[in-house]
Amino acid sequence: MKATMEWEQKCRRCGRCCFEKLDLDGEILYTDEPCEYLDPATRLCSVYPQRHTARPGCAPLTPEHLAMGILPADCPYVDGLPNYRAPRLRET
Ligand code: SF4
Repeated sequence: MKATMEWEQKCRRCGRCCFEKLDLDGEILYTDEPCEYLDPATRLCSVYPQRHTARPGCAPLTPEHLAMGILPADCPYVDGLPNYRAPRLRET
């Protein structure tokens, strides 16, 4: 439990990972479309404890998902990951 809390506390609650993403042949792009459960005022998930059931596409922050490049480069969860490739914004 303590390890889980320490892991969760790494999050700065910026909400930037809670925007829809596109996977273009392995390259992840951010869109400007927020998840329906992202509270725009607090930048927090409004269904956080149930997020994976409320939104089955919400990726857990496992090493495999982190390696896919779903978090911004300055996110604490990927800080220091070698060869980390952060998503870029989709050009409209
Ligand atoms: S981008 Fe990183 S710091 Fe920001 S909300 Fe997502 S997990 Fe937390």
